[in-house]
Amino acid sequence: MTYFNTDEVDSALVNLSRNDRNCELIELPERSVEGVTCHALRLGSRPTGTRDCVLLIGGVHAREWGSCEILICFAADLLLAYRTGSGLAYGGRRFTADQVRGLLDNLEIIVFPLVNPDGRRYSQNTEAMWRKNRNPAYGNGKGDCVGVDLNRNYDFLFDAATAFSPTSGVRVSTDPCDPQLYQGPQPFSEPETRNVRWLLDAYPRTRWFVDVHSYSEDMLYVWGDDEDQSTDPSMNFGNHAFDGLRGDAGDARYREYIPASDLAQATGLARDFAAAVHGVRGTDYTAKSAFDLYPTCGSSDDYAFARHLTDPARGKVLAYTIEWGTEFQPQWDEMENIIKDISAGLLQFCVSARSMVGTRTAATTAA
Ligand SMILES: [Zn+2]
Repeated sequence: MTYFNTDEVDSALVNLSRNDRNCELIELPERSVEGVTCHALRLGSRPTGTRDCVLLIGGVHAREWGSCEILICFAADLLLAYRTGSGLAYGGRRFTADQVRGLLDNLEIIVFPLVNPDGRRYSQNTEAMWRKNRNPAYGNGKGDCVGVDLNRNYDFLFDAATAFSPTSGVRVSTDPCDPQLYQGPQPFSEPETRNVRWLLDAYPRTRWFVDVHSYSEDMLYVWGDDEDQSTDPSMNFGNHAFDGLRGDAGDARYREYIPASDLAQATGLARDFAAAVHGVRGTDYTAKSAFDLYPTCGSSDDYAFARHLTDPARGKVLAYTIEWGTEFQPQWDEMENIIKDISAGLLQFCVSARSMVGTRTAATTAA
């Protein structure tokens, strides 16, 4: 085996859904810029909407090839183990049959492995290090003046020039010819990011979101715009009194608010993920905030977690970004090892998430 091309990613999803009654094919509402129909999978043994949901996405950045294979293998392993009543083992990390069964019986898991099919096709056929989508609409439509960085296109502090400090070095660009970081003309200008938003809207019981990227061997939790703090609720992304101050490291003028209980859950799940990865073959992933990698705006994790703060009618989504590996396109034999690492991490993430559901249910019952 080697890396899937765009058509193979899609046929893998269709085949998985045909062979298993606990797996349903979801057609996303929007085609990619170049007209590709996108699919996701819904895993679960119970009727849709009756369980809390984990949403996993990948293939956002074109050159980060292995994210699609990670999510497809994760889904395939989980479905097969459930169907056969067996556990799962990745290197030295094992999961029991009870744990596997508990995931599909008590959670809904949605897997969207290829958010950016046009970009993957271009990266695999023409320019290996391509990152953006392939939208030609905003520059002159040639060379680097094509495409939007989809992970800067979400609605979170999109107006970076206003929101951030001039010295922050926030990683984003308003230049359509920036080869990496062009954010697009406005939030959700791209069909590919609108598909992700649609999943969050269509599955309102989504409580966990993971965006699979490469690389740096990190498990990132929110926030990405500045350091986390749990003492001053007024110091938050919606408060314009702090415009121009965000994004500087090591200062006290601005740090992004997250309630202490949310931060404890966010860091706990990230550490559980990293511990499971370590159990496979000893690889050390670091659980840290996205800002500790570098300051960002318009990214999927901050958007997903911010949704319940901008609209209290929405549920809270603990949101993460995985940065697997130490290069974008490892040799396939090493990619197979990384697939095992991250599959174990994601399985443990879901097992821990499921136990959080149990805790909440018990507390509700007791009250
Ligand atoms: Zn990426």
